[in-house]
Amino acid sequence: MGANRKIKIGILTAPKIEYEQRAHTFLLKNVRIGIGFHWDRHEDQEFAGELEIRNNPDGTQTAINTIDLEDYLCSVISSEMNANSPMELLKAHAVISRSWAMRAMEHPNHEGYHVCADDHCQRYEGLRRMNERAVQAVRETAGQVLIHVQRDKVQGTKEEICDCRYYKCCGGKSEIWRTCWENIDVPYIQSVECPYCGRVSAKTLRLVLNDYDQDTKDFHDWQVTYTDDELDEIVNARYPGIGHVLALEPLHRGASGRIDSLRVVGSERTEVIGKELNIRYALSRKCLYSSWFDVNHADGRWTLTGHGWGHGAGLCQIGAAEMAEEGFNYEQILAHYYVGTRIGIAAK
Ligand SMILES: [Zn+2]
Ligand SMILES: [Zn+2]
Repeated sequence: MGANRKIKIGILTAPKIEYEQRAHTFLLKNVRIGIGFHWDRHEDQEFAGELEIRNNPDGTQTAINTIDLEDYLCSVISSEMNANSPMELLKAHAVISRSWAMRAMEHPNHEGYHVCADDHCQRYEGLRRMNERAVQAVRETAGQVLIHVQRDKVQGTKEEICDCRYYKCCGGKSEIWRTCWENIDVPYIQSVECPYCGRVSAKTLRLVLNDYDQDTKDFHDWQVTYTDDELDEIVNARYPGIGHVLALEPLHRGASGRIDSLRVVGSERTEVIGKELNIRYALSRKCLYSSWFDVNHADGRWTLTGHGWGHGAGLCQIGAAEMAEEGFNYEQILAHYYVGTRIGIAAK
């Protein structure tokens, strides 16, 4: 395995980084997590590996952590999901988080480091939520990545590490790439049926979700209601001067039902909003659970009736947890959500 493969993580940018260097670890104060999402909050977090404080041109500082990729993964899988989750879920997560991270190390998402520590990239919340089961899942899948083989008549056969996207709950059906990101087809990100997240028990959810995620209720099927005044305030905060909201018209939906183009008709002007994440921001003080919803307007109230939590492309974390509870192994879980892939060992 690539024991010496190191990843650089930008954990926090602040006017001044407050930290404490300890014998083998360091503590960062007031790390913001869930940035822009409904679980947005601050915590103190402890990390292994090396700490570098970078001074930015705008006067802020960034805490950058350098650590072995495999150690990073132990923290990621216990930040994304609870480290007490079924072993096969943790192993599936180790494989997809490794695959995703290795692509990010080749094509960094950020200036000066490979990945950030929040939901924008993968959650990396330090040592606190980690346990020996997370370490075991990473060890037992050491070096394993998800591979897709592309057969092309002109270019021949090409193998690539998959860009393994994932999210909390699909709501019954997963989404395709172009609903969320670029207008391309990613062959292994297809819309698949997922009966699993819909039948997960409250007991399993308590086991597989981390503390702050347990505050999110009814994410498979949800409803949000606003008065006319509330929605006007929310939409105008992001799109100033749109005026009184007269209509919300879904113009296009992806394969699961997630809206990727929404027309907001205001009394002053009209705005077409996409893709799925911008729509979730546009219609919430923080962020809607997903962009898969129907709109109803009656008696001065807007009601959005929706499904799922997250963008929906790739693996459904809660569905995968339920699959593991039902006895599927991690190879079967990965084959379900990433069509036409196989597990391989990353080149050293
Ligand atoms: Zn990021
Ligand atoms: Zn699902």
